[in-house]
Amino acid sequence: MKTLKIAIQKSGRLNEKSVELLKNCGLSFENYKSSLISTVSNFPLEILFLRDDDIPEYVQDGIADIGLVGENVIAETGVDVAYLQRLGFGKCTLKIAVPNNNQYQNIADLSGKAIATSYPVILQKFLDKEKINADIKTISGSVEIAPGLGLADAIFDIVSTGGTLRSNGLKPFADVMSSEAILIGRKGIENEHLVLELLQRIQSVMRAKETKYVVLNVEKSNLDKILNLLPGVKSPSVLPLAEEGWVAVHTVIPERDFWSHINELKAAGAQGIVVMPIEKIIL
Ligand code: ATP
Ligand code: MG
Repeated sequence: MKTLKIAIQKSGRLNEKSVELLKNCGLSFENYKSSLISTVSNFPLEILFLRDDDIPEYVQDGIADIGLVGENVIAETGVDVAYLQRLGFGKCTLKIAVPNNNQYQNIADLSGKAIATSYPVILQKFLDKEKINADIKTISGSVEIAPGLGLADAIFDIVSTGGTLRSNGLKPFADVMSSEAILIGRKGIENEHLVLELLQRIQSVMRAKETKYVVLNVEKSNLDKILNLLPGVKSPSVLPLAEEGWVAVHTVIPERDFWSHINELKAAGAQGIVVMPIEKIIL
């Protein structure tokens, strides 16, 4: 393969993070303006900017080699592609929601009801699994207004914070699927040299995002306490300071639990704590 083609969303919720991820991988290109295709100048890669709904099929059919899209869209289009890497952004949950004043107790109460959605395939699978017969009304957008208009008794849609549900007098009723952005590829492409190279870059960027580089000063008498608080790291660097009896500890800590880590380190005698972002971690 001479040039790899990647499909990403041209505008919408995944576009900015997709472009940022590729740029953080050291790829240099023009973002989407009016042209559908952008050529990366320092890696054999072409970027196709598309509607997200089209990405799974473009990848399955080989028009793009790989693509970056929400798992929900992959599930809805039912394509047969290889999952290469979960990307940790674009997180959301697909839920069934019902009007606030509604008395449904369990899923079976949806039997015979009308449910409006833009995701009929995912919803039908869920209803089949639960052995529920309901009437799916497929609409392309603004699903949340359907109950208010009398079009449906319930909706099935993407929910992230729940704000849209609340402002339309709806409440979550059942979680059906959670989703995040994912890198997919045409079946069989997983071991291609260029795909592996790009995956290695993506993983090193993601690893770096999950961690911070921390430098702190501590009195030698407190050093053991500090080192005991850093279990995940095999060997932090300990460097002498100009001031007698003090050392600097350089280490990497996970972003998750960040504040509890920092507060524990402070309580154990750490001073002058400096926290820095990490650009890439290459294993
Ligand atoms: P397109 O014009 O490309 O078809 P779209 O309107 O279908 O875009 P967006 O709203 O941009 O789609 O959402 C793209 C993806 O972002 C969704 O399919 C989903 O995977 C993810 N996502 C994450 N959070 C949300 C959210 N709160 N609402 C909608 N989608 C979300
Ligand atoms: Mg779409």
